[in-house]
Amino acid sequence: MKLAYSDVKKTAAKLKFRTQAFIDGKFVNAAAGKTYTSINPATGQPITQIAACDSTDVDLAVKAARRAFERGVWSKRSPAERKHVLLKLADLLEKHLEEIALLDCLDAGKPITDCLTIDAPDTVHCFRWHAEAVDKEYEKMAPTGPGNVAMIVREPLGVIGAILPWNFPVQMGAWKLGPILATGNSVVVKPARQTSLSLLRLAELAAEAGLPEGVLNVIPGSGSIIGAALCKHMDVDAAAFTGSTEVGRELLNYSAQSNLKRIVLELGGKNPQLVLEDAGDLDDIARQAVNCVFWNMGENCSSGSRLIVHRKLKDKLLAKMLEVSQEWIVGDPLDPATKVGPMIEESHLNTVLGYIESGKREGAKLVLGGGRTLQKTGGFFVSPTIFDEVKPAMKIAREEIFGPVLSVLTFDQEEDGIAMANDTCYGLTASVYTQDLSRAHRAARALRAGTVSVNCFSEGDATTPFGGFKQSGFYGRDKSIFAHYQYTELKTIWMQLA
Ligand code: NDP
Repeated sequence: MKLAYSDVKKTAAKLKFRTQAFIDGKFVNAAAGKTYTSINPATGQPITQIAACDSTDVDLAVKAARRAFERGVWSKRSPAERKHVLLKLADLLEKHLEEIALLDCLDAGKPITDCLTIDAPDTVHCFRWHAEAVDKEYEKMAPTGPGNVAMIVREPLGVIGAILPWNFPVQMGAWKLGPILATGNSVVVKPARQTSLSLLRLAELAAEAGLPEGVLNVIPGSGSIIGAALCKHMDVDAAAFTGSTEVGRELLNYSAQSNLKRIVLELGGKNPQLVLEDAGDLDDIARQAVNCVFWNMGENCSSGSRLIVHRKLKDKLLAKMLEVSQEWIVGDPLDPATKVGPMIEESHLNTVLGYIESGKREGAKLVLGGGRTLQKTGGFFVSPTIFDEVKPAMKIAREEIFGPVLSVLTFDQEEDGIAMANDTCYGLTASVYTQDLSRAHRAARALRAGTVSVNCFSEGDATTPFGGFKQSGFYGRDKSIFAHYQYTELKTIWMQLA
């Protein structure tokens, strides 16, 4: 699809926003009537005012979700019936693909080309995949003796709170809602404060698709107020979260303090790209390595922010990466040529700039970027940045930066490279580059991460689970049939035969 910048700007200017909370099938103001301003990170200017919900709204949304669950308007529909509604939702999202893509582009500063070709289509595909999967799964019977029949069945958990991040607003919404809804649960979603617009529109389309009132509720507002209230609520059965490890840890406390609700966490990462001595095509690796750290502005939990490369290959690979980096054009996210948009907000821009300063201070060698750019736009842009000669103890090698900043480290022996790759409290994704099949297998098994990619950077597709080892997650796997399991309870029905 070839887009003209001027056309995208014209379409964006005509967008209409849903800005109220969506509770029990209706758009409503926050109970206290409060609103907050949503800012466009590419200009620093307001987009619109959005309902600022509080604990009263959380309670109303949870009650609506519980009523819907108990009435069985969704939870007791057959899997095939739920499939039809979710497929209709996917069709409607596809019909409004450009609008959905533009909402995330404006709200999150994500490049429109990515929104149109990755986030929005993946959202559609995700709903289709979970819808199609749900009436293909069979339940089980236990191998008991002839006097009994024991069925092992899965049942929806009930009311689920979903707390979303701002880096993939609608797509993360789909990764949570696809399996939550397909398995018959009701849900209350809290989108990130910065990026609520696409989820509110999705809720409207879900109602149009035939999702009964109360099954899906969307409450915008602050995480520390409504996110916390949702996770402490005594009538919420589970909370699904993507975001920082720090807040994830809080959710476990909320669960312990309330009703021991199930907590499903997908958290941060400091992901290694390990380039072994016998790695193949360096041109290809340079493209992958740069893509995996600059894509989505590095605001990505699976960003490969540590390049751990064999000393013999480092200079050649780095030279190629610096060349390829020139293609990563920073600019207005509405421009289809833009590959790098702004940071999500000013405070996050300052956090990323702080990490860049710490890299310089601690003695890493800056070889690309290294500061703010396009300041006149009012947007929160950072130049794609690469540090060479990074040491494992440096802050930029240890902490999640969540910006377009790459740390390059070197090693001499394969086992040292693997040890360096695993020397982190995180374990979300990893890449390994080698031409030797045995080495590839060995390294893939040795790397402590939820997804290991060999000779590429990939998060897999709808069929593969996505989630982390160590402090990158807690029980959480998005995508695939494994996501269905975490939103269902396992029940044994034991029958004695006469
Ligand atoms: P947070 O973890 O704070 O935010 C993620 C979601 O959690 C948001 O919806 C947020 O609400 C909500 N939230 C915040 N505090 C609470 C709370 N006490 N109880 C319940 N929910 C809460 O991430 P940030 O946006 O602050 O980003 C900080 C860092 O987190 C990033 O720099 C990055 O390192 C990491 N991160 C990781 C993501 C991932 O994909 N794994 C995604 C986003 C961030 P609110 O809208 O008010 O912020």
